[in-house]
Amino acid sequence: MQKRRHNPNLAKIHRNYTVEEVSSLYAVYKGTVRAWIKAGLPVLNDKRPMLILGSDLAAFHKARKTKNKQTCKPGEMYCVKCHAPKEPDGNMVDYETVTEKIGNLVAICPDCYSTMNRRVSLAKLDQVRGKMNITLPLPLQHIVESNRPSVNSDLNRSMAT
Ligand SMILES: [Zn+2]
Repeated sequence: MQKRRHNPNLAKIHRNYTVEEVSSLYAVYKGTVRAWIKAGLPVLNDKRPMLILGSDLAAFHKARKTKNKQTCKPGEMYCVKCHAPKEPDGNMVDYETVTEKIGNLVAICPDCYSTMNRRVSLAKLDQVRGKMNITLPLPLQHIVESNRPSVNSDLNRSMAT
């Protein structure tokens, strides 16, 4: 599923918003707005219904947008719980087939022990591999081996910069 990017400029900074208004403004479910509140979006506590400052809303989404740019380097996977790219525990990673060309890397976060996922295309597996020890399902193993280009290490270096 594609992650929706929210435009921080949607909210007018001098206005207050209810959860309902925020949900229609950003075209998301009210549950999503509550998740934002849980994730640190400030609310005006003394008011019922809950009110959210437009300026807080804008700042929250601006911060998240920056955070989303934090991408994984080769050998890293993004831990949703830690909100950071991590090197998998023991560098042990399983590749799960999604389609013929696309799969999911599954590993354990070394810090919180939750499951991390990273969507990869099979053709680009070597670009994300880094130090990770990726276990492929048996039917795939010979395919990937024969597809691996001989200039592999040079390719990785140019991709990393
Ligand atoms: Zn974690």
